[in-house]
Amino acid sequence: MVSLQAITFDLDDTLWDNQGVMLKTEEGHYRWLLEALVAWRAKRQEAPLALGYEQGLADYLQRRQAWAQQVPERRGDFTWLRLRALEEQLEAHGLTRSAALLWAAAAMNEFHRLRVQVTPHPEAAGLLSTLAERYQLAAITNGNIHLKRQPLAAYFPVAIAAGELLAPKPDPKPFLTALERLNVVPQRAMHVGDSWQEDVVPAQQLGMHAVWIAQQGDQPLPARVHRIAHVKELPEVIQWLEKRH
Ligand SMILES: [Mg+2]
Repeated sequence: MVSLQAITFDLDDTLWDNQGVMLKTEEGHYRWLLEALVAWRAKRQEAPLALGYEQGLADYLQRRQAWAQQVPERRGDFTWLRLRALEEQLEAHGLTRSAALLWAAAAMNEFHRLRVQVTPHPEAAGLLSTLAERYQLAAITNGNIHLKRQPLAAYFPVAIAAGELLAPKPDPKPFLTALERLNVVPQRAMHVGDSWQEDVVPAQQLGMHAVWIAQQGDQPLPARVHRIAHVKELPEVIQWLEKRH
């Protein structure tokens, strides 16, 4: 008898390593913005803005943090925070409001172009394609990667951007939303993710099975929680679970 009906996946650091891409995206879209602004101002015979890369990037981060404090319900909506911070920074450096809005949006386009350039683990596509024959699949992420443009999008008919729901994991809302769209009860679903706090704990508390991707971890695992070192080991856990039923 099949016990599981659905499997939900965290994305960043679960189906690909995220760190290198985040750094390239962070630096790349901001550098792109400053260079594009210099060219735009030169064409209009205007002096370059007094905005340098290092100091500008640090100021951009501070403004994001300030916005997250001012509007706490948006703290996990990273695209929104970045847009507000960039608009504010550009206006503070002399752009008109409308130019600031336009250039902030253009910079975020570049951000999303870079952000989706993740390289899934080589086993990921084959694994998802096999699982999709038997289980319903969903993605639940706190990150602001473009869910339709990410390289594994085709495997996730249901994809939840928790930050944009204003309820980043560990909030149970993105899990419940995914389960509702899949029409599955928590007991027949499994969540797979690398974060103990954001993936494992909320899924387990809802009654889902949870697979924690962690290289190490000696702590005793609560009921329904399994640990693997890499997502490629997932089929073994599923087989073991299915055999018990
Ligand atoms: Mg993750």
